[in-house]
Amino acid sequence: MSENRIYNFNAGPAALPLPVLEEIQSSFLNFQNSGMSVTEISHRSTYFDDVINDAVDRAKRLLKLDDRFRVLFIQGGASMQFAMIPMNFLANGKTADFVNTGTWSTKAINEARLLDKKINVVASSEDKDFSYIPKDITFSKDADFIHLTSNNTIKGTQWADFPDTNGVPIIADMSSDIFSRTLDMEKFGMIYAGAQKNLGPSGTCMVILRQDLLDKAEDALPTMLKYSTYADKNSMYNTPPCFGIYTIDLVLKWIEEEMGGLEKVEEFNIQKAAVLYDFIDSSSFYRTTAEKYSKSLMNVTFRLPTEELEQKFIAMATEKGFGGLKGHRSVGGCRASIYNAATKEGMKALVNFMDAFEGENK
Ligand SMILES: *Cc1c(COP(=O)(O)O)cnc(C)c1O
Repeated sequence: MSENRIYNFNAGPAALPLPVLEEIQSSFLNFQNSGMSVTEISHRSTYFDDVINDAVDRAKRLLKLDDRFRVLFIQGGASMQFAMIPMNFLANGKTADFVNTGTWSTKAINEARLLDKKINVVASSEDKDFSYIPKDITFSKDADFIHLTSNNTIKGTQWADFPDTNGVPIIADMSSDIFSRTLDMEKFGMIYAGAQKNLGPSGTCMVILRQDLLDKAEDALPTMLKYSTYADKNSMYNTPPCFGIYTIDLVLKWIEEEMGGLEKVEEFNIQKAAVLYDFIDSSSFYRTTAEKYSKSLMNVTFRLPTEELEQKFIAMATEKGFGGLKGHRSVGGCRASIYNAATKEGMKALVNFMDAFEGENK
């Protein structure tokens, strides 16, 4: 570990791969011999064209996307997508199914309702405090798309497999697990992710959109709120979030060149999560909150015997250099977010700390 850096288990903004941060640092004052920082160059320059095109190409290679898919960068985070999706895809009597698996799904549903769109919530895990992913869902016959949240950052649940929807495209909020595993894109019409969990700095949202959805999208919308604006101008209708896109490009390069692609990343993430889940499962002191078959490989949510012990645990962890272990303010408890950049070394150190804390406080 680099000097003075903690083991960072923040949920988002979250840890980025150290080699990426080091590359940003070393090229920050003079990007590609331009004599300028990447935050100072024109987005209309070939320097920046190369950055954004490289990011798009890498995303396509990693997810094995064919030419039907467009890769876009949009500002406003994932939350802006909650509004853009119904605005663009639910005009003129169209309807969609939504699955509610927690806070972020609920926000997406609320935004569609706020816009007075016709949607059905076809499944929800709210009955058990969003601790599981619903199974055997019956989708509506007339749905134009199905919206779901692939990984529930706050509750620590994740779709292990995606439902069979009879060809109806899934639109998935993948903010906290994009590029963490391989994906069969045949099922998806669109996936999107706020960058700050697994991709880069906050503010930029990566949107991967299939051309046929784009072709059918509503056109009578404000310029900045329609997907066609971004698709027509390679995400540069106005000044794009240059630094965000640059960092995303470096993260994707790291996944391709250092990690060896998504199969390898997936294997690595399964092993990493197992270190923590196996330890918690073998302990009578800690317990996970997510149902067995819905456990997230990205956000491990867990509890201690009492809230007092949880507070003590978090305080002591912070002191020992483990950051971000406090659960989301809406749910309490503890959470270790272990995205792609989390290291095995960090996992082992965390488990050792947890073991020692258990010994002292049992
Ligand atoms: C963090 C998060 C969001 C919100 O992202 P913003 O970029 O802050 O809008 C939405 N969905 C999921 C699943 C998230 O984890």
